[in-house]
Amino acid sequence: MIERTFVAIKPDGVQRGLVGEIIKRLENVGLKIIGMKMMWIDKEFAKKHYTEDIAKRRGEHVREMLLDYITEGPIIVMAWEGIHAIDVVRKLVGPTEPKSALPGTIRGDFTHVSFTHADAQKKSIKNVIHASGDGKDAKYELNLWFSPLELHTYRTVHEAHVM
Ligand code: ADP
Repeated sequence: MIERTFVAIKPDGVQRGLVGEIIKRLENVGLKIIGMKMMWIDKEFAKKHYTEDIAKRRGEHVREMLLDYITEGPIIVMAWEGIHAIDVVRKLVGPTEPKSALPGTIRGDFTHVSFTHADAQKKSIKNVIHASGDGKDAKYELNLWFSPLELHTYRTVHEAHVM
């Protein structure tokens, strides 16, 4: 039940000064941060994260726009741990389309654009954060972004009081 998941604060989230706010929301529910760093990746590396799978699901044009978006500035990458952490983080993040994301979610509170608008602009949806979609993605992404030595094991007060 204890899972690890990968989270990235995308370039717009960093440039808008939302790093602290986002980390606070994940910490507030008792999730444990076990790895974190700032990186400015190039397109070659970005292609390993946004693989052919995204082109199959969303279209090749979306993958191209996404590669531009994720490489346009530095990002904060993090590993988080907790009970059902993958689903819990996705719940806090909200759905892909900001227009549909409910208030209270990170995307719902800090973004509002729609798929229709992004498509008309020929730009990727800027939705401030990425979080692994499922267990398979989490394993692949954590392994891609972090070496084992960059992930830490320690006890939080939540393990005594929240879990
Ligand atoms: P999520 O990030 O919610 O897991 P996806 O993996 O399907 O969603 O898509 C990755 C990212 O691609 C989204 O977060 C968003 O930034 C962008 N994106 C997805 N679909 C579109 C679209 N139709 N138009 C523009 N950008 C999109």
